[in-house]
Amino acid sequence: MRWSALPLSILIAVTLAHSADAQDNRAAQRAHMVADVAALAQQSGSETGRPRLSEAVMAALGKVPRHRFVPLSQEAFAYENRPLPIGNAQTISQPYIVALMTDLLDPKPGDKVLEVGTGSGYQAAVLAEIVAKVYTIEIVEPLGRRAKEVLEDLGYRNVEARIGDGYAGWPEAAPFDSIIVTAAPAAIPPPLLDQLKPGGRLVVPVGGAGDVQQLLVAEKRADGTISIRRTLAVRFVPLTRERGAH
Ligand code: SAH
Repeated sequence: MRWSALPLSILIAVTLAHSADAQDNRAAQRAHMVADVAALAQQSGSETGRPRLSEAVMAALGKVPRHRFVPLSQEAFAYENRPLPIGNAQTISQPYIVALMTDLLDPKPGDKVLEVGTGSGYQAAVLAEIVAKVYTIEIVEPLGRRAKEVLEDLGYRNVEARIGDGYAGWPEAAPFDSIIVTAAPAAIPPPLLDQLKPGGRLVVPVGGAGDVQQLLVAEKRADGTISIRRTLAVRFVPLTRERGAH
């Protein structure tokens, strides 16, 4: 029998069953990814100080559909614990690094968080599952536009995305409870420290382009002074600057 000869109701039922299978499969893959992340967190616990990541972070990781944030050609690998290319010479970070950086922010439900380096939008979605409001900024326009579309499509109404140079932060929305930088500057950008609330945290990979960088956690004390702790060695794409910026 040709498909076209099937009653519409049967066709719809077949299609629905098929997509339900695909969803179950993805949920299983995601659960596997979360287990991989937990194992890696345990292994690197002495370096990071976080052998167990918070329940909120793990729940967010178990929920966000990472396959929606990668190009079609990478979908099959979306739940492997590794970075993937997202076009424009950029990458979506390894799920463990997303989870660790999110955990290091100590995110709370009422928080307002800034992300520099939207990339695919995945990290923004993970944060949006946990905190009240996420501001995210991307310097490469096509990436920023695509991420915004995916985030809107998935219903993340608490994310505001813009195109621009995140070195300068987002002064109109400052101060933030925490700031996450997912591209590597040579040194911590001073405007980002200025835009942190007292008690706030900045998580940022610092080091030269092409090198291994150090993932730093900077904390602004109540008196405005800054303490810095070093965690893992990581490898991020460089934080680029708008032409003409110093
Ligand atoms: N957080 C992303 C991964 C980011 S990769 C995710 O979840 O997918 C780093 C991103 O930072 C790249 O997309 C790069 O274009 C962007 N970037 C680099 N320099 C930047 C800058 N000065 N301001 C904003 N974004 C920047």
